[in-house]
Amino acid sequence: MSLKVGVVGGGQLARMMIAPAVEIGIELRVLAEEPGMAAALAATAVGDYRDAETVLAFARDVDVVTFDHEHVPQDVLAALVDAGVAVHPGPAALAFAQDKLRMRARLEELGMPQPEWAAVADAAQLQAFVDAHGGRAVVKTPRGGYDGKGVRVVADAGEAADWLAALSGDGRLLVEELVDFTRELAQQVARRPSGELRPYPVVETVQRDGVCAEVIAPAPHASERLVAVAAEIGVGIAEGLGVTGMLAVELFETTDDRLLVNELAMRPHNSGHWSQDGAVTGQFEQHLRAVLDLPLGDPDPRAPWSVMVNILGGPAEDSLADRLPRVFEEHPAVKVHTYGKAPRPGRKVGHVNAAGDDLDAVVYEARAAASLFAD
Ligand code: ADP
Repeated sequence: MSLKVGVVGGGQLARMMIAPAVEIGIELRVLAEEPGMAAALAATAVGDYRDAETVLAFARDVDVVTFDHEHVPQDVLAALVDAGVAVHPGPAALAFAQDKLRMRARLEELGMPQPEWAAVADAAQLQAFVDAHGGRAVVKTPRGGYDGKGVRVVADAGEAADWLAALSGDGRLLVEELVDFTRELAQQVARRPSGELRPYPVVETVQRDGVCAEVIAPAPHASERLVAVAAEIGVGIAEGLGVTGMLAVELFETTDDRLLVNELAMRPHNSGHWSQDGAVTGQFEQHLRAVLDLPLGDPDPRAPWSVMVNILGGPAEDSLADRLPRVFEEHPAVKVHTYGKAPRPGRKVGHVNAAGDDLDAVVYEARAAASLFAD
């Protein structure tokens, strides 16, 4: 049996599928946006993922097409499906990850717990929502946001005037109550086209300036009830939306002990990088298994605690590789993952994973190792 997976997008998520693909003997092909990207090692094509011809030509010789990001337009996805290409996750599921308004509406239909929300077309509607929700609210552009771009806390509709002015036709912005959360969590679930599901342990994610900085797996101080509810939400969304591959559900834990869905990602996700070294089956191998409809691996943790710390920005003067000897010398138990990306302030250029029995010691170790890559 020869299995070929085509990944659209050449970023770090595609890059991190390469090692498990090699290990289990899957041929990985990547359609990269440009030469020299993070996944260049597996790039068999370079081109525009918004162009149906380009993506169809890339897909011709693979068993399944999957993604490094959720931005492939629906008309391109439809062209793939029409041509008989297996696409996982499929276009119908991806639509909910591409558009936060569609996601909110569908999650409401599924009865999922989420922040109060509305679709607003003008300043009056936005101001009415803000006034009805304690004088502050979170405005989001439904499409194209990432790492906190496209998210704004406003007290006055005027603070979103530029986004409102840019709306066209029946365009709407998403507005949500400003959730008083105690922490952010993430629940991942792998699902095969034939239906098998495997939830990962719920994790705590720490964001700084809208960007994920650290992840602790499993989430500390999590009651059995919280763990079960998070898994139930993840499984319910994976089934309800027909997600295939890895699904990540970002959650808020509120001061009154509720879990609310923030957003979804239908691909491997930063909140699951710990699993590369900390789970029996890492999320990148699991994604490949799932999109190929192969039996899923065990998602259980290998250690009581795993901690992932992102390397943000990276050294301005030298390269990450120049820092490796010292990191390896001082932190032999830490696993280093770098993305082959040029450092830019705030940019994710790599991460480190540490694991062990004592959470404080593991956090210290991971932070100390990651800090050696900072400026
Ligand atoms: P992105 O798609 O850019 O990752 P998110 O919707 O995940 O945007 O929002 C980014 C961050 O903004 C979240 O991780 C959270 O810290 C904060 N945030 C988003 N929505 C809300 C909300 N309704 N209430 C409070 N904070 C929020």
